[in-house]
Amino acid sequence: MMYLFYAFIATVSSILGGLLPLYTRAKDIKHQYLIGFASGVLISTALFEMLPEAVSEIGAERFALPLALGFFSLYLVEKAVMIHACTETECDIHNAGWVGMIGLGFESLLDGIAIAAGYVVNPVLGLVIGFAVIVHEFPVGFSTSVIMRYSGYSVEQSLLALVLTSVPTVIGALIFPVFPPYLFGPVLAFTAGTFIYIGASDLLPEAHRTVNWTVVSMVLAGAVLTPLIGWVFSL
Ligand SMILES: [Zn+2]
Repeated sequence: MMYLFYAFIATVSSILGGLLPLYTRAKDIKHQYLIGFASGVLISTALFEMLPEAVSEIGAERFALPLALGFFSLYLVEKAVMIHACTETECDIHNAGWVGMIGLGFESLLDGIAIAAGYVVNPVLGLVIGFAVIVHEFPVGFSTSVIMRYSGYSVEQSLLALVLTSVPTVIGALIFPVFPPYLFGPVLAFTAGTFIYIGASDLLPEAHRTVNWTVVSMVLAGAVLTPLIGWVFSL
């Protein structure tokens, strides 16, 4: 049940990341570096670890559909939530508030499922996915608090949102055992699709609000780290 532990650490990571802007002056520092690093880790975890494992589970002909479903269903959830939240005025994610938190909670749930699915296929894969989730949840928690505060919510309400969007990772890992084994491969490909979507479509543009070489090198450092960890642990 090591994957439950990884999921728990990811939840803690998200909450710690969210406490920073609530109780310290950390909201003033640039978090683009952290976000850039996390996006590199997420994307390369999907490409180097999750997809090869999914292919070896279900075959090269069958991994594309769950992958595409993961990518586009997260896109749909996110845009539906945003369109719903931003009706009249020009759309700004900072106005999303509570509605935007639904998407974040769903994403955390998928994180927990991904860790468990990876672990069951191969414990090293579970560790690598767990690491990717822990690393990206820290800036996600950070952003959650910042978004809630910018939307005009109190510190207590932001804390509640933080807990509600972080705990689903553990829930995802807990409910995973009800999945029949033949679904491990497709679930892995599906969650890889969600990782690529979040990394490339949410985190990368956020990291590059101001473009500089430090952000670029943080993204690349994150991208190189995942295959490196996979390689070291499989020696
Ligand atoms: Zn996540």
